[in-house]
Amino acid sequence: MDFELSDEQQLIRRTAREFSDREVAPRATENARNQHFDLDLVARIADQGYLGAIVPREYGGAGLDYITYSLVTEEIGRNDSAMRTVISVQTSLVCSSLLRWGTEEQKQRYLPRLCSGEWLGCFGLTEPDTGSDAANQRTRAVRQDDGSWRINGAKMWISLGNHARLALVFAQTDPEMAHRGLACFLVETDQPGFQPSELHGKMGLHASDTAQIGLDDVVAPADAVLGDIGDGFKVAMSALDSGRYSVAAGCVGLCEASLDASVAYAKERKQFGRPIAAFQLVQEMLADMKVRTDAARMLVWRAGALKDAGKPSTTETSIAKLYATEAACWCADRAIQVHGGSGYVDDHPVERYYRDARVTTLYEGTSQIQKLIIGRALTGVNALA
Ligand SMILES: Cc1cc2nc3c(=O)[nH]c(=O)nc-3n(C[C@H](O)[C@H](O)[C@H](O)COP(=O)(O)OP(=O)(O)OC[C@H]3O[C@@H](n4cnc5c(N)ncnc54)[C@H](O)[C@@H]3O)c2cc1C
Repeated sequence: MDFELSDEQQLIRRTAREFSDREVAPRATENARNQHFDLDLVARIADQGYLGAIVPREYGGAGLDYITYSLVTEEIGRNDSAMRTVISVQTSLVCSSLLRWGTEEQKQRYLPRLCSGEWLGCFGLTEPDTGSDAANQRTRAVRQDDGSWRINGAKMWISLGNHARLALVFAQTDPEMAHRGLACFLVETDQPGFQPSELHGKMGLHASDTAQIGLDDVVAPADAVLGDIGDGFKVAMSALDSGRYSVAAGCVGLCEASLDASVAYAKERKQFGRPIAAFQLVQEMLADMKVRTDAARMLVWRAGALKDAGKPSTTETSIAKLYATEAACWCADRAIQVHGGSGYVDDHPVERYYRDARVTTLYEGTSQIQKLIIGRALTGVNALA
């Protein structure tokens, strides 16, 4: 077992860290305060090659392995979870689905545009009445005489949905077939029936774009099915396998940021005539944060190593996602404790870390769903069927 990163991985990590500190960090607080989805910053992230990190170079990607992808995602997530969400959605949910399931024509048409950031993509699985039970899609796709599909329904909580030029839309083609009737459609969004609107009032991720989307007679040509009719559920699950990995890596960054801010504050803040870092109960909080940060990173790297080796990694990815997201919530909570009252206002970034961390145990499968996936591997009994 080798825990050393290669020279190339260390270089890419250093570059990502410098980029994140130089470009992402200075804008994060203001973008969150102004609820501003920063397209200029998205373009800079795309220029770095991070939106197509794991896509082979022949399709315009950076051709990174999964371990290196986690390093980049961690570094962006260390400064801004809203921008990390852009990477997770574009790279893992959208690009990895096209890579795994797309025809050569589909890959050639979309991947270069997505990797360069010319187009944003979104992943339309969740609906107002369909969350964890993702197979139970209400959105309907009906085949027309000319072979094309007409799609009607609604999607909810869709990241990048207001800006995406390409939407992966999951829909039921035959309700009697249950999940075997599901399909994933590549929907180009510049048509009147595709109606996104911004979702207001989020607790965190204020600088991210989240949409509800009406689908009113949206048309998808016959060749716009990703995989085959009936593959929709498998497409969704394989996308989430990469997406959960990316969320977990971003959460390692959130843990690290919470810890770094807490150590710096504890050394600087004085009470009882001494820096609060001198108090054992404060050191305990820092030590517990450090243990969780390192454990989360090791679990992410294990899942990444399995992916890079082409081995099954669904359970290990769920373990990493479950642990890293819960750790991020815990570390951000402790960071506020270390900061005292100062941590409760947005002059200190830990206030934002706390709010941004909270969604990570919900999206791309809640913590309960991850536990059921792990339980299924342990018992052979599928509680999600
Ligand atoms: C900011 C944000 C961005 C998002 N981005 C996207 C996106 O880009 N694309 C997309 O498709 N979706 C997206 N989502 C949706 C997200 O994936 C869902 O919110 C999530 O899957 C949970 O679904 P739900 O909210 O309907 O909760 P529900 O499924 O209603 O769950 C409610 C509670 O019940 C629990 N529960 C449900 N079923 C079980 C069970 N069988 N056993 C035990 N407990 C259970 C859950 O764990 C949870 O605690 C986003 C959500 C948010 C908040």
